[in-house]
Amino acid sequence: MLDNGDSILFIQGDKIMLIDCGTKSKGSTVVDYLKSIGITKIDVLIGTHPHDDHMGGMAEVINNFQIGTLYTPDTSNNNITTSWYLEFLDAVDEKNINWIYPKVGDRFNLGEATVQILAPNSNEYESLNNYSIVTKITYGAVNILSMGDAEKLSEDEILENGLNVQAQIIKAGHHGSNTSSSEKFIDSVNPQYALISAKKGNTYNHPIKSVMELFEKKNIKVYRTDETGTIIMTTDGTNITFDKDPGDYLSGAELN
Ligand SMILES: [Zn+2]
Repeated sequence: MLDNGDSILFIQGDKIMLIDCGTKSKGSTVVDYLKSIGITKIDVLIGTHPHDDHMGGMAEVINNFQIGTLYTPDTSNNNITTSWYLEFLDAVDEKNINWIYPKVGDRFNLGEATVQILAPNSNEYESLNNYSIVTKITYGAVNILSMGDAEKLSEDEILENGLNVQAQIIKAGHHGSNTSSSEKFIDSVNPQYALISAKKGNTYNHPIKSVMELFEKKNIKVYRTDETGTIIMTTDGTNITFDKDPGDYLSGAELN
């Protein structure tokens, strides 16, 4: 496998949220990991947008766990017929899962944490990336922004809405691509830490040099799966710790 895949697990008390499930070929890796840490149900399952590297593993996850609520963007304006997507639809049907297209501003609780929807702002985009569900997760004084693959167009829409996007941690949009992470948006978020989910040797050379230079210039520490594999972040609502050391600012092309 040479390509990227996103999957982010949130645990608050006994509540579980999973954002994305990796590629179809890595669905079993995600399932095995969740089972290895004792997870039997997923209260909130978010598929940020219907690309294989985010939702390819959905069917496998849905078939292996009890699912509370599923959130995806409304992409009914697109005729998506990839085999993994049809398997996903079958799995949802078979288990009769509660499936919601969230709206910007919607909030729900995950235990004592709050999840707020910041995007998508439309159901008609040229790029499927811009359908990405963007979430702000708040626990105590700590905020995390999960961008999916939202691009600059979506970032601009989020800023135009005037919602507070400040967060100590950002899961950088689109695997650190320069389609995302505009300086204006990063300045508004003002993060201390950026998470980059990218496969070492990926064919897109993610993360892109200009994005890494921006993070370096802003003194944002980077944690990147291409260097360390799975990253575990822990917070008590004030302090933030990581189980890995920060990475360097090399682009994917330089790292390869
Ligand atoms: Zn992606």
